[in-house]
Amino acid sequence: MSKPSGSKTAAANAMPNDICLWCYTNRKDPNKSFCSDKCTMEAGDEQPQLIPIPKGHVLYEGVKKSRNSGLITPKEYEIRKIYLVTRTNESRAEYEKYRKGLEDKGNFVAKGKAIGNEVKRFRGADRACYLGEENDDEDPQMCIQPECKLCQSLIHGFGPYLHLKRTQGLALKYANTTPDIESDIRVLMLCKVALGRAYETWKEHQTWDKPPDGYDSVHAMTTPDKAGKKSVFKYDERVVYTEKAMRPAYVVAVKRVEAPSASKAKKPAPKPRKKIPGLVRYKNTKKGRPGLLLRMLAR
Ligand SMILES: [Zn+2]
Ligand SMILES: [Zn+2]
Repeated sequence: MSKPSGSKTAAANAMPNDICLWCYTNRKDPNKSFCSDKCTMEAGDEQPQLIPIPKGHVLYEGVKKSRNSGLITPKEYEIRKIYLVTRTNESRAEYEKYRKGLEDKGNFVAKGKAIGNEVKRFRGADRACYLGEENDDEDPQMCIQPECKLCQSLIHGFGPYLHLKRTQGLALKYANTTPDIESDIRVLMLCKVALGRAYETWKEHQTWDKPPDGYDSVHAMTTPDKAGKKSVFKYDERVVYTEKAMRPAYVVAVKRVEAPSASKAKKPAPKPRKKIPGLVRYKNTKKGRPGLLLRMLAR
């Protein structure tokens, strides 16, 4: 059944652009994902899930803006969808505790930085499902296939030794699809990372399993070192050594943009999504967010 596409847009337009994406009732707190501790706790009471962020919403524009101010998107890609990632209350508490520990040691806020020197960084991971390829009337679906590192990370978190990329371009190299999936869409995670005190380096330290004493993360510098020697790194990368230091905050699906000459030619019909053998959807066993029902009613 085709959906009346205009009605959802009209409904979305009627809502303020900072509506809480959990309750769809109040405006969100400017410093938080949702409107209140109540909505944050309710969302955290559920298993991790993805909430589509409408274009024009402050969270959507925030992600877009952060890409413009340094989180660079290569020209040949455009943003297709952005989803907010919810965490369980336990997962959020663990991260916030770690971040506070860094802040207490390093006083980053007093230096004009975010709590615990938190930044947003991209991370790519292999995808073995159609997450990020949904049409407008579908909700995003994570899977539980072991080879889908993207969904594994979103549902269960990351392992240790995490490399984070500043540019989408570099993260895209790691955001591949498995052979079953033919797609010009790549799906990235935009993560919150508490860097704390960063150790700057101009050379590889492959064997390190923790940062040097007194530091919390490692920063691969692309500029020449203090003696003017060229760095071995082509890309600005950060490394944290504990899973506690990082949480996926957004899922950003980007699509390859056709070259201007190619777009004049007749577009081939989009390929139907192939059935993936043995694909098992990830199911949130709890009640789901109240906003979803409201959105469905508004359609
Ligand atoms: Zn709310
Ligand atoms: Zn998946």
